[in-house]
Amino acid sequence: MKRAIFLDRDGTLIEDKDYLHRLEEVVIFPGTTAALRQLQEAGFALFMVTNQSGVGRGYFTLADVEKVHQHLLREFAREGVRFEKIYIAPEAPDKPSRGRKPSPQFLFDARDEFGLDLSRSYIIGDKLIDLECGWNAGVQKSLLVRTGYGAEVEKHSAGKLKEAVVVDGIAAAAKWILNNQT
Ligand SMILES: [Mg+2]
Repeated sequence: MKRAIFLDRDGTLIEDKDYLHRLEEVVIFPGTTAALRQLQEAGFALFMVTNQSGVGRGYFTLADVEKVHQHLLREFAREGVRFEKIYIAPEAPDKPSRGRKPSPQFLFDARDEFGLDLSRSYIIGDKLIDLECGWNAGVQKSLLVRTGYGAEVEKHSAGKLKEAVVVDGIAAAAKWILNNQT
């Protein structure tokens, strides 16, 4: 069975700009593509899992989100990095949602569609909901990056991070996984 890395988007792969939806706002963190390539070369399938409540709130459309994602996929593909699938939860937080993090539903969907072993997979994100999503799905480890909201989470929610691994950013997360995989 395949192993996977589930990646949050805003604050993890790219700079978090509130309700980002224009291509010119997209800034990929330095070292991201190389880190993803290392994980891919180690045999991990890559997935993005992103809450985009700006759609449900009416700030932008799903088409805007797709445009940003096509851009990201193109940028990553130039360096040989391939995402298997991007999961988007577009609902506003007060509306029912099938997959909005911390729901593990999208990870279960990916497991069923791609034949993944979640217990040997990882999630990387900058918010507690990302870590909880991983715990709810039974992944091997949830990693918190200090980029985006991560440093704030580390400061204010330390008590909730006992089961998490906290690292500076996506490159350090990849390094930790590659050094600690079983
Ligand atoms: Mg985030």
